[in-house]
Amino acid sequence: MRAHRVGAAVIAVAAMTAGLTACSGGSDKFVVGIKFDQPGLGQKQPDGSFKGFDVDVAKYVAKELGYKDDQIQFKEAISANRESFIQQGQVNIVAATYSITDDRKKKVGFAGPYLVTGQDILTRADDTTINSVDDLKTKKVCGAQGSSSPKRLVDKFGDAWKSQYLTEQQGYGACLPLLENKQVDAISTDATILAGFATQSPGKFRLVGKPFSEEKYGIGVKLEDKETREKINKAVEKMFQDGSWKKAVDANFGEFGKFFTTPPAIERY
Ligand code: GLU
Repeated sequence: MRAHRVGAAVIAVAAMTAGLTACSGGSDKFVVGIKFDQPGLGQKQPDGSFKGFDVDVAKYVAKELGYKDDQIQFKEAISANRESFIQQGQVNIVAATYSITDDRKKKVGFAGPYLVTGQDILTRADDTTINSVDDLKTKKVCGAQGSSSPKRLVDKFGDAWKSQYLTEQQGYGACLPLLENKQVDAISTDATILAGFATQSPGKFRLVGKPFSEEKYGIGVKLEDKETREKINKAVEKMFQDGSWKKAVDANFGEFGKFFTTPPAIERY
């Protein structure tokens, strides 16, 4: 019993120290959780640098919070670990195709939104049988664990569909080879993510282009840290106003950027 209590205390102190390190400013690092496998949003480059819209937003925000470029450290976040990364202080912020949802709002705070997209479908280019979400009822679909996208389909089609038709991977990048090899017939998630995959492999895939949800991308921070949340909201508003947001849209989304003509309104809640 005694040893047990001491163990718990040590863990508590270690957790506090980790939290402090990740969150103090000045000369420290600013750790940003991003996706590493999503072209156009958050992608690790062969030279070790990072590219994408989420990356550009995070860099802008970090700068406004007083951090220099060399203080920013990108850490790979996957759909399933975004809440725990924030709660445990493993990152300062998450900017990783992170939809603001009521469930997640109970665990983390959100600044933003800084982009609004919708859930859509990616198929093989030569598959003409999938043209709307209803067509997925009898199709094998891939999604990421901890993502809101597969959850939406399970809510719609039920648990029997889930066990028969849904494959869940750690990330959407891991769904791509399954689609190519015909182990699944579709990937369903945000149109931004799917457009990035389609652009990366011209001629291979088809974006159905019939979004069936509204995904508002937010920047995740600790639930109780309202001060940082508001600072980030101000930074994002500045990014909208000074033209940097549009520049980042054009630089990262190519053709698909035409769907993002005006920035969304920040939601303070
Ligand atoms: N935006 C959705 C979400 O936050 C889907 C993309 C993802 O899983 O990153 O769950």
